[in-house]
Amino acid sequence: RSSDDCAETEQSRQTRKEEKMEQTFIMIKPDGVQRGLVGEIIGRFEKKGFYLKGLKLISVDRSFAEKHYADLSAKPFFNGLVEYIISGPVVAMIWEGKNVVTTGRKIIGATNPAESAPGTIRGDFGIDIGRNVIHGSDSVESARKEIALWFPECPVNWQSSLHPWIYE
Ligand code: ADP
Repeated sequence: RSSDDCAETEQSRQTRKEEKMEQTFIMIKPDGVQRGLVGEIIGRFEKKGFYLKGLKLISVDRSFAEKHYADLSAKPFFNGLVEYIISGPVVAMIWEGKNVVTTGRKIIGATNPAESAPGTIRGDFGIDIGRNVIHGSDSVESARKEIALWFPECPVNWQSSLHPWIYE
């Protein structure tokens, strides 16, 4: 489906466009869920001022994980990566805000936790690249694809009343 199929009002779609609001897909990986980091991670995105627009705890199967990581299918770590993602439930989320794709990646930190700055999620909570706690879309285009893959149902449409306190 395209996001146009969902019941977002024309006005809220227009407002989002004018304010250069983006959406990104964020997933807390099985290690993050098992380690009890869900609240901590959601808190970081909330406190920054981003809006939670979709959220579910879900276990995915091999073919779904392979689809999500299709771009990496030629990598030597691909099979291990798929095993990791299907090893337990994940928390799939849509976050919205100005520049949320790029800023979300900064909040997450570098792919390898060993190179992630302290203060980032991977820098604070990870050690190994194959257990790096969280995924975030790397572009607006991949966010669009990932949101359509993980949220085939239309996400709830709501507006935060905090908006004027976060945006000038
Ligand atoms: P990112 O998740 O930061 O966008 P990539 O798209 O390059 O990074 O890789 C996707 C995921 O694959 C990483 O988050 C990590 O879980 C895994 N990964 C990447 N490189 C390696 C590697 N060299 N060894 C094991 N796992 C890796």
